[in-house]
Amino acid sequence: MKTVYRLTATKGSSEKYGACECCGRMADSIYHLTRYRAYTTNAGKQGMSYLSDAFGHKNCLAKTTEAA
Ligand SMILES: [Zn+2]
Repeated sequence: MKTVYRLTATKGSSEKYGACECCGRMADSIYHLTRYRAYTTNAGKQGMSYLSDAFGHKNCLAKTTEAA
């Protein structure tokens, strides 16, 4: 089982999205991280299912993908 990450810029700051969910500090640029679980069915078909997501600094979110 593999986890897939999508990191995208929101073009918004903490004024719009709130503080970083990782460190709790304000950010000028908030990024959005979405985690998916990649799977293959018995029939050999590949798919992805949504796991969770978070808003925060790009660096903070990148750290959470390394730890996983
Ligand atoms: Zn942060």
